[in-house]
Amino acid sequence: MQMTGIGYCAIRKCDRRATEVVAGIALCRQDRELLEHGLKTPPKLFREVVYYVTWPGADYLKIGTSSAIIPRLRALSSTARGRACMLVGEPGSFSVERKRHREFKMSRRLGTELFQLSPQITEHIDRLRSAWPTWAELAGVGPEWQGGQ
Ligand SMILES: [Zn+2]
Repeated sequence: MQMTGIGYCAIRKCDRRATEVVAGIALCRQDRELLEHGLKTPPKLFREVVYYVTWPGADYLKIGTSSAIIPRLRALSSTARGRACMLVGEPGSFSVERKRHREFKMSRRLGTELFQLSPQITEHIDRLRSAWPTWAELAGVGPEWQGGQ
């Protein structure tokens, strides 16, 4: 399936044009095949990640975009909220982030990137985890930064 106008592959250091969109993510054919076949080669990193981050005891999460996720998680851990943990990472950039912000605007805390954890957001996170079971590897996030739900 050849598509035009979907830009570059979402995989870091990949300079190929995307040829298709899988679960909302633009990928080149080679990387789509690698991901589809369960990462027989070492994992590559997503170029940019839309992150879903929460904090201990919080009933809300932050949805943002980063191309340097560990420094971002450290920064998000440096407030009174405590240590940040990532619920899932979605390959994509600011356009994906804006789309999610629109989808979940009913749960949004005005003027922030914080969203109340709603059934819709929880379902969305579950869908992402199913679509990208290796999201943590692809985002470059070790177990110490991952949160359950
Ligand atoms: Zn690629």
